[in-house]
Amino acid sequence: SEQYRFVVVANRLPVDEIVDDDGKRAWTRSPGGLVSALQPTVRARRGAWIGWAGGTGEAPEPFALDGMWLHPIALTQQELDHYYEGESNATIWPLYHDAVETPAFHRHWREAYRRVNQRFAEAAAELAAPGAVVWVHDYQLQLVPAMLRELRPDLRIGFFLHIPFPPVELFMQLPWRTQILKGLLGADLVGFQRPGGAENFLRLTHNLGLEPEGDRVVVDGRTVTARAFPISIDVDEMEKLAADPHIRQRAKQLSEELGGHRRLLLGVDRLDYTKGIEHRLKAYRELLAEGRLSNQDVALVQVATPSRLRVAQYRQLRERVEREVGRINGEFGEVGLAPVHYLFRSYDREELLALYLAADVMVVTPLRDGMNLVAKEYVAARTDNSGALVLSEFTGAAAELPEAFGVNPHDVDGLKEAFVAALETPAEELGERMRRMREHVCAHDVGRWAREFLDALGEPPG
Ligand code: UDP
Repeated sequence: SEQYRFVVVANRLPVDEIVDDDGKRAWTRSPGGLVSALQPTVRARRGAWIGWAGGTGEAPEPFALDGMWLHPIALTQQELDHYYEGESNATIWPLYHDAVETPAFHRHWREAYRRVNQRFAEAAAELAAPGAVVWVHDYQLQLVPAMLRELRPDLRIGFFLHIPFPPVELFMQLPWRTQILKGLLGADLVGFQRPGGAENFLRLTHNLGLEPEGDRVVVDGRTVTARAFPISIDVDEMEKLAADPHIRQRAKQLSEELGGHRRLLLGVDRLDYTKGIEHRLKAYRELLAEGRLSNQDVALVQVATPSRLRVAQYRQLRERVEREVGRINGEFGEVGLAPVHYLFRSYDREELLALYLAADVMVVTPLRDGMNLVAKEYVAARTDNSGALVLSEFTGAAAELPEAFGVNPHDVDGLKEAFVAALETPAEELGERMRRMREHVCAHDVGRWAREFLDALGEPPG
């Protein structure tokens, strides 16, 4: 079978299966950050992408789409439960996000994770041409680099972690911390969102008896580099959408539907306990209760995209958030005038852009977030430099956007002050802040992120 000089390995393929009106099945490009980040890179190199296609049981045959070769990996229902929802999303996800929810540890989850990682590594070993570059992504596949190196020592292997890499004390809770570290050390280059993640990782290699120097560590005579490569967005796409007359018209319509003169606060998040949605609602409710904000003058639109609802903690979060939204609307709303517009659904980029254009204040308050692309998208969309960004200091984006209204979401009073400041700061100062943030985001788009990672990974020797 054919082999490829460039291979991406990620949990999910960049496509969704759709069934049209005649019952015919077809694939469409799926939305989401990773896809827009990587698709141009894979396509330009006529590369292959290995990932799960959704669904369980037998995997679809590999196929070509949009200039990429897509290679589906099969998962059984049990593997989906144990590898994906268990080990990935109920152990590693909460642990790497500062354990803001308690991680669960189960040996059978771990075993499924190992088995699925081995399957991904074997697929990559088959598809990669001699000396090819293989780029492995994210927390679901941390064992793949070492497994792949074992099978194919000729490859150049990169790994990028999209979520935070935790402090040493938290990582040490993983019962199989040594295997995970060794898994990652199978790569030639390990990329993180922030320098702190790379530092935590290198510090942990001391436990294996290794001695890192600067951003490198020598493992079995091989040099592994660990560095930060903060991910970004497709700025051109955002600006194009922001200029589209239909989307501008839609933004105007949204403002009018909210009551014309009311200022709009906007949150756009997956419904995830790391996003600080409850903290933001609490601050908003207190401001209404104290009369510092009035339902006549402001409205909060909260898009909460359904996520991982088979995991208990996500269902419980949904219930708490919806109870709080109901409470706020019940206490401070009037007929035809709700203080919170809660939207439990996923929107396409056009509708999101209209919301970004309509929003006076974008509210991004995660307790921990690897990057937060929504913050960067809002900045990219505000081509006239208007609007304000309230941004948690515990996001990767905060390190790049010091002109945002920075908040510690655990500090409710601070959060309230930031909301008020974002609404009351004179337009001129807001414009200056947004201009600087736009300058940074526009100069660091996702194309540059991919180029910098792949340049640092370098071509294989020989
Ligand atoms: N997004 C979307 N539709 C929605 C909500 C979000 O397409 O209804 C997109 C959003 O534009 C962004 C991504 O999903 O590109 C979310 O990325 P982020 O880094 O903010 O958070 P994550 O969900 O990856 O934790």
